[in-house]
Amino acid sequence: MAKYIFVTGGVVSSLGKGISAASLGKLLETRGLKVTLIKCDPYLNVDAGTMNPYQHGEVYVTDDGAETDLDLGHYERFTHAKLTNANNITTGKIYYSVITKERKGDYLGKCVQIIPHITDEIKDSIKRVAHQQNVDVVIVEIGGTVGDIESLPFLEAIRQLKLELGRDYAINIHVTLVPYIRAAGEIKTKPTQHSVGTLREIGIMPDIIICRTEKELNKESREKIALFCNVDKEAVIPALDVKSIYEVPQMLHEEGLDRLAVRLLNLKCEEKELTEWNTAVVKVVRSPSKEVPIAVVGKYIAHQDAYKSIYEALSHGGIANDARLIIKKVDSEDIEKHGVVKYLGDVKGVLVPGGFGHRGIEGKIAAIQYSREKKIPFFGICLGMQTAVIEFARNVCALTKANSTEFDKATKFPVISLLEEQKKIKDMGASMRLGLYECAIAKGSKAYQAYRKEKIQERHRHRYEFNNKFKEAFQKAGMVFSGTYPKGELAEIVELRDHPWFVGCQFHPEFKSKPDNAHPLFREFINAAVCAKYGC
Ligand code: GLN
Repeated sequence: MAKYIFVTGGVVSSLGKGISAASLGKLLETRGLKVTLIKCDPYLNVDAGTMNPYQHGEVYVTDDGAETDLDLGHYERFTHAKLTNANNITTGKIYYSVITKERKGDYLGKCVQIIPHITDEIKDSIKRVAHQQNVDVVIVEIGGTVGDIESLPFLEAIRQLKLELGRDYAINIHVTLVPYIRAAGEIKTKPTQHSVGTLREIGIMPDIIICRTEKELNKESREKIALFCNVDKEAVIPALDVKSIYEVPQMLHEEGLDRLAVRLLNLKCEEKELTEWNTAVVKVVRSPSKEVPIAVVGKYIAHQDAYKSIYEALSHGGIANDARLIIKKVDSEDIEKHGVVKYLGDVKGVLVPGGFGHRGIEGKIAAIQYSREKKIPFFGICLGMQTAVIEFARNVCALTKANSTEFDKATKFPVISLLEEQKKIKDMGASMRLGLYECAIAKGSKAYQAYRKEKIQERHRHRYEFNNKFKEAFQKAGMVFSGTYPKGELAEIVELRDHPWFVGCQFHPEFKSKPDNAHPLFREFINAAVCAKYGC
């Protein structure tokens, strides 16, 4: 039977609960345990797919095409857990299921209530994952901050679950903030005490408290938290700010987190060091031998989390090439206002990520034209590939005002357009081309050089496609179609022959990249950028 670790957060949001959960997953996996992770999100959206990245950060996509919270990205980057739609439980999904059952009459005349019907549905959804994925440990992260109205049913459900499972089968970890008050020159434990107090009011006693701090947690503060929050001293785990998130597993290990969790859950496994991870990832992150400036040209640049997996995958490409990346975040609308040279004049690689809607498109196209003409390594992802196609149509094939029908329905040259089946769709939720699709790679291409395989599978999230009516003309003009979806002849990867590295892909490779195993396209893109700076 699986054992459960429930992770809650207190004091403020953005404490890195997801990174803490993912790091613990990594530590337990290193000890030979099979883990999975679940994120519970208290909002009413059924999934993150209908939310603007400004609201919620990036929408992460799993193999099975679920549009999820970005914490699932951390889970997959840190561990080998294979996550599915079931690993992201939202209030929307829970209510949808309960109301559907109620309409069918499944509750046999009962009054349907938050307790027990909603809480039972949450418990069943959690247990189902543990059962289906056949794991030793399930780490369940509850989104939001303790004290929020929205997360109460989730907290009540995990309270009941722990009670039902009994000793040795479930523990609670609470992640809090221990702020440093500069004027007083002190760190303060009171917010943590209050937050644990709120948790206790709803019947949950934490077994471990992870304290995020910017200053060392001294012995006195540690003892104070232990005393007032009713935990052992060794269960107060300091988590100091670190430069890279990939240093967190080692830090938590040194503070004894995995040893304690394993003991409390009575798990049978050996104590293990994170040697491989530390050598392959942390060492390179700390002292790489090279440094390259890379521009990311998008429209959600101002939001830290909107391109989360893109930034992570870029850093993995850096790790694979022993290089630190200086990421220049460029708002494509600024390029429209002030020209491209000001922003891209000194970079060695340009990446245009995915996106939706018309705003900022012309700036992206200008960035792509500049990269193509100046032979700067270029990587276009999803909308980034589509805009590369538009740029090529306009400036190489002389198809004036060519566009995607997403931005100009009446364009004379619809080089990107909707597939017939997408035209019929009315509901916006979960209706894009989503999840894993196969792609055949052409030998002799840059894509093949990266993958070294003829068949690959990548994750998708888009509605529009390259319009094959233009394929021949594009090929004649020098565009190579190096990746194709075999069943529908859809263009999945395009590249340019006479350019050091110019690749666009319709899928999202960033979702499958790992710090210790960079995605091949990110690895090669950064390799090209390193070559542009240092020579090859
Ligand atoms: N808006 C484009 C489409 O729907 C691109 C989507 C994306 O970049 N994820 O096809």
